[in-house]
Amino acid sequence: MTDRGPGGGDAPAGRVGGSVVDVAAVAARLRADCGRCAGLCCVAPGFTRSADFPVSKPPGVACGHLTGGFTCGVHDELRPRGFHGCVVFDCHGAGQQVTEVTFAGGDWRADPATATRMFDVFAVMRTLHESLRHLAEALTLLDAAVDASPVADGKLLAALRAEWAAALAFTEADADTLLAVDLSAHRRAVHTVLSRASARLRAHPPGLPAAGGDGGRGAAGGRGPGPGSGRGGPRARGGGPAGRPAPAGVLAADLVGARLAGADLRGADLAGRLLLGADLRRADLRAADLRGADLRGAELGGADLRGALFVTQPQLDSARGDTATILPAALVRPAHWPAQVPPSTGRRRARRR
Ligand code: SF4
Repeated sequence: MTDRGPGGGDAPAGRVGGSVVDVAAVAARLRADCGRCAGLCCVAPGFTRSADFPVSKPPGVACGHLTGGFTCGVHDELRPRGFHGCVVFDCHGAGQQVTEVTFAGGDWRADPATATRMFDVFAVMRTLHESLRHLAEALTLLDAAVDASPVADGKLLAALRAEWAAALAFTEADADTLLAVDLSAHRRAVHTVLSRASARLRAHPPGLPAAGGDGGRGAAGGRGPGPGSGRGGPRARGGGPAGRPAPAGVLAADLVGARLAGADLRGADLAGRLLLGADLRRADLRAADLRGADLRGAELGGADLRGALFVTQPQLDSARGDTATILPAALVRPAHWPAQVPPSTGRRRARRR
């Protein structure tokens, strides 16, 4: 969750349509605006005491730190208190949509009889908003490239717009309609069109050299820290071989804790991959698809994420980067990232390998 300060998300809803103008208007409301929400993420989901939460609570029971005004009583201390799961949570604007639109300003405290329905609708709305967010990114990138063959694909754009319109219509429906949404079918349909968009955008990333091209920089080619790998600062660029993709076996394997420092992962399909604690320092992730990838604890110091697809701010917030990390446009550097990854960290890890 976020603080209760003035947030974004108050842009007017766009028409259910297909132009990039409509998409941009709606995309602006896909950001959490906690000041317009009944604290839904602090009560609807349950959580278990773990590395992400210092305490457990069942679904539907308010967190002990939720105040009477639906604010978080420990918002400024979430990280030191161990509420890492809250820090990286993103409702994608579902909270205020459910509170203000679906339930017309009602709340679960004032009307306990609606609580369960409200929480169930919140879960559906969050999925729909997440889909809209990714669809908006794909539509924006492909629309912008509509004249730039071979990126342009009229059928794909039409399919993306159809899923966008369907999801948007659901978000504006009543609670009964939302609770009847077949989320499995929705997820499958959205996954299919986003995967097609991803393949196109990864092969022909707008504004970036195509995957496999050198782009004039040379590539680390999957080398870990070591002589010539660019260790010790922003990676060495230029003078190396043309882009060498990470070995196929690397991307087929379990990537939890994977050693991918300096790897050339340009245009890689990492959607949904578990990259917990992976060493991605100085990795080239330009135009890689990171949709839904679990980046908790992943080391991104010096990594290049320009043009990386479907990356969300909570994903970045859950990872560890530094000032040398190059971020995708529209995302901001997490405040808790250190200025630089301490060199001793890399040396200790290298010795353990
Ligand atoms: S559900 Fe979303 S808008 Fe509501 S408090 Fe949580 S993060 Fe904020």
